[in-house]
Amino acid sequence: MASFTLHGIPVSRGIAIGRAHLVAPAALDVKHYLVSEEQVEAEVQRLQKAIETVHQELQTMWNELPKEAPAELGAFIDVHALILSDPMIAEVPLDIIRSRHYNAEWALVTQIEELSAQFDEIEDAYLRERKSDIQQVGERVLKVLTGSAITLPAQDGEEGAGRLIVIAHDISPADMLQFKDRAFGGFVTDLGGQNSHTAIVARSLDIPAAVGMYNASALIRQDDWVIIDGDHGVVIVDPTPGVLDQYRERQQRLARERKKLSKLRKTPAVTRDGTEITLLANIELPDDCPAALDAGATGVGLFRSEFLFMGRVGHAKHLPTEDEQFESYRQAVTAMKGRPVTIRTLDIGADKPLDAIEHTSLNPALGLRAIRFCLAEPQMFLAQLRAILRASAHGPVKLLIPMLAHAFEIDQALSLLEQAKAQLREAGKKFDPLMPVGAMIEIPAAALALPMFVKRLDFLSVGTNDLIQYTLAIDRADHEVAHLYNPLHPAVLYLLSTTIATGAKAGIPVSVCGEMAGDPKLTRLLLGMGLREFSMHPSQLLMVKQEILNSDLSDIGPRTRRILKMSEPAAIAEAVEELRAA
Ligand code: PEP
Ligand code: MG
Repeated sequence: MASFTLHGIPVSRGIAIGRAHLVAPAALDVKHYLVSEEQVEAEVQRLQKAIETVHQELQTMWNELPKEAPAELGAFIDVHALILSDPMIAEVPLDIIRSRHYNAEWALVTQIEELSAQFDEIEDAYLRERKSDIQQVGERVLKVLTGSAITLPAQDGEEGAGRLIVIAHDISPADMLQFKDRAFGGFVTDLGGQNSHTAIVARSLDIPAAVGMYNASALIRQDDWVIIDGDHGVVIVDPTPGVLDQYRERQQRLARERKKLSKLRKTPAVTRDGTEITLLANIELPDDCPAALDAGATGVGLFRSEFLFMGRVGHAKHLPTEDEQFESYRQAVTAMKGRPVTIRTLDIGADKPLDAIEHTSLNPALGLRAIRFCLAEPQMFLAQLRAILRASAHGPVKLLIPMLAHAFEIDQALSLLEQAKAQLREAGKKFDPLMPVGAMIEIPAAALALPMFVKRLDFLSVGTNDLIQYTLAIDRADHEVAHLYNPLHPAVLYLLSTTIATGAKAGIPVSVCGEMAGDPKLTRLLLGMGLREFSMHPSQLLMVKQEILNSDLSDIGPRTRRILKMSEPAAIAEAVEELRAA
């Protein structure tokens, strides 16, 4: 067969080369027949038994979860177990057997299809994607009923560990767990988006993957040679020997680069002219701390606390309590062993919906998100502030407040913090009374009105992801305007550089914690603007450190000042590239 290429959504970087292993879609296409009145109870029991078996399977998976498994995996198993216990799955199909005399498979599929149709109506993209969780649970029960399970072939010889590319219509995170034990090279699915659970697991497992390929599972045949370019979301099927060689070379080069970079873990981040730079990690959950330390981070610059609040669908719509939050914050502080941990207060809303509090906004990105939401829910905010304060008794903690634009918002937030401290004093609970408080600078108005921030706060952290979104008036989650998202737009560079300069003048620390900080192509530009503190995803840290080690500020400074005077985007892009090559 001739070679062909498919394009989808890149979700996890790197290159994988191997033979295709097609995972057959579970038989949603099942046998349909009616059972007689006398057979009804036996059919009901057959379905109940299959559901029970899947419960046991999930429990076994839980028990056998490897220690180093990402936290998300446990959470996914929990979600699947909760779905399985829900009357919608555990009872309604049994009623269908009793009332309509459908066979067990048919009753289950009927109900799954009904639930899927209801999910299609949901506007919220994150919740809509949870439809796949219900289908995956349904498929798991069907596999028990029909006796067909997802299996991987024995791996030996040339097709050994890591050389198998799983091709599927969709993969449940729980199924990925068993694949992990069998060491496979990467995976490709027809369904899925950036937010799908499977994509999240792929990223945390660091396996090259591409999703949203539409009909890859129909076009790719068993044992075809496949290349996944996880950086670009490209899949090449039956590549020519020339292309295969090229990718093998790229794969080897990437492996060599990773190995070389890992030697920099303990090297201090110092420029050639001797300026020390602080490299911090962005984390979502306390379990991300080991990866942060492993990459050589000297602290956490952004703990996105909203991840503790999100996706609690199965938890009877409860928000995490103060104690639960305290445990998570304390866990992160302890794991970082004396290094500072910057905890950002809840940044919920826009593309990070909170399913525990239903709220619809006309323009979510411009609506009641982050600090605006917290000030509208003072009891919830106070509970979070108390939890963060209590964690500060266990190691250095900084508090970071997102989406501030108005002086009164800063004042209200600080006054609530004082209230939280008073409550803790009364309760006899310990905390650091001098815990530094900082603001995210991510609304253009904030970057243009810095004196009111500098006067009231201890530090600033620039959220370039939102600063770009709001400066250029483009939704960062909308693929239709993705081509307009430009970190090098002169207006963005102006706001960023003035924020860094104003902080330096006022003597208050400024960091950047948006994606720009983790892009090695922009490291020198940021250094040239005077940035001395970068916070990023741990996987980017060593690449950025390498740039820093090769940089000389006496050369970069004047070049950057010239770039900041430029007005033509093409000239800016060229000069930034030259700066990197210098
Ligand atoms: C940002 O906006 O740059 C940022 C770091 O926060 P988030 O991406 O969580 O909005
Ligand atoms: Mg932000």
